[in-house]
Amino acid sequence: MRANIERTGKKRVVIVGGGLGGLELTFSLLGAGYQVVLVDKNNYHQFPPLIYQVASGGLEPSSISFPFRRLFQGNKDFFFRMAEAESVDTREKILRTSIGTIQYDYLVLAAGAKTNFFGNKHIESTTLPMKTVSQAMHLRNTILQNLEKAEVEDDPERKQALMNVVVVGGGASGVEIAGAIAEMKINIIARDYPDLDSSQMHIYLVNAGDRLLAGMDPRSSARAERDLKRLHVHVRQPQFATDYRDGVLETSAGLRIPAATVIWVSGICANHIGGVPAESLGHGGRLLTDRFCRVKGLEGVYAIGDQSLVEGDGEYPLGHPQLAQVAMQQAKTVADNLRRQLKGEAPKPFKYKNLGTMATIGRNHAVAEIAGRKFGGFLAWVLWLVVHLRSILGVKNKASFF
Ligand SMILES: Cc1cc2nc3c(=O)[nH]c(=O)nc-3n(C[C@H](O)[C@H](O)[C@H](O)COP(=O)(O)OP(=O)(O)OC[C@H]3O[C@@H](n4cnc5c(N)ncnc54)[C@H](O)[C@@H]3O)c2cc1C
Repeated sequence: MRANIERTGKKRVVIVGGGLGGLELTFSLLGAGYQVVLVDKNNYHQFPPLIYQVASGGLEPSSISFPFRRLFQGNKDFFFRMAEAESVDTREKILRTSIGTIQYDYLVLAAGAKTNFFGNKHIESTTLPMKTVSQAMHLRNTILQNLEKAEVEDDPERKQALMNVVVVGGGASGVEIAGAIAEMKINIIARDYPDLDSSQMHIYLVNAGDRLLAGMDPRSSARAERDLKRLHVHVRQPQFATDYRDGVLETSAGLRIPAATVIWVSGICANHIGGVPAESLGHGGRLLTDRFCRVKGLEGVYAIGDQSLVEGDGEYPLGHPQLAQVAMQQAKTVADNLRRQLKGEAPKPFKYKNLGTMATIGRNHAVAEIAGRKFGGFLAWVLWLVVHLRSILGVKNKASFF
């Protein structure tokens, strides 16, 4: 089977994954003299930084999901195929997918990462990840269904377990979802479930490290912890989840928390693609690339975003953080270099410009670190709101340009 895409006179760039990196690359390459083929296992782009809002009922999925076919409507150099990429054959310059093979001149792997359960199959099958919009919807439904059950449960222990929520992982996703559920408890559950004593809904945040938001300054960590405690979130650290059996989450410190809802946001690993030699893989399964985002040992293949790890940047010896800005800036570098290639110009290396990091804690608090300045509270939250609204509007504006 072939993916049925006609060859034109233009060289073809196949992009695997229309996430933050792949979408930016597609926008940047259109009109650059290439035929662009975007392959994604979903037919819509999703905006991960606001997924926790979908999980906690603050936003509907349609607010952060954009159909690829609508985004690039009417562009004759653009093709979309909904398919799962399976493996690469660099000798034949072919990508093998669930709908057949696709030939490429240049291949860009931007398939992102998935939740890391650290090999614990039992935890994987019983806890709730939060990487995609559909997982966020499942999470939201699980919380609400457990509350419905709690309302009619007579046994007090069982009732308590149905109301408890445990978040495992004290990074940005863990902090944001714990804060959002705490707000949900105050603003929605107290009103919608008048027969339940919502003050008895306990939210736990279990973190393996000794401070939250380990990638940020310790002052931001302390501030985030204080804000979460203000929302009555029980922060338990340093201790890691060891198992979740018979509805009880166990931790390395001997804590046992009965909870029907356990959210697992304690790490990620890169999505796998076949045909890549072992020496091209770095820690967390990330594809090793040079400073130009070219995958080590695979000619004509680039990798960007969470799936990749750029070697040789002295400032980031362990690789760049798996963040939106890294993926989007790498996309711009690859697009720029592919344009240069057509003009016979030398490529330019990727240089990450850190525009800052932020995390929200509940409805109107956040912590932010921008240009060496650290701040928190309402001001940081307003800034967070502006940045994310701009990003979402940016997708819509770029789409209406075509
Ligand atoms: C809940 C959450 C909140 C986050 N919040 C922030 C934040 O506030 N700030 C920040 O900077 N970063 C944040 N991040 C991280 C950020 O979203 C990622 O770093 C960024 O999305 C990476 O972009 P990417 O293009 O590499 O991958 P992604 O955006 O994850 O896109 C990967 C794409 O590949 C597709 N795909 C996967 N496998 C296949 C396959 N085999 N075949 C075809 N398609 C495939 C997926 O459907 C998806 O469209 C957050 C992440 C999550 C999960």
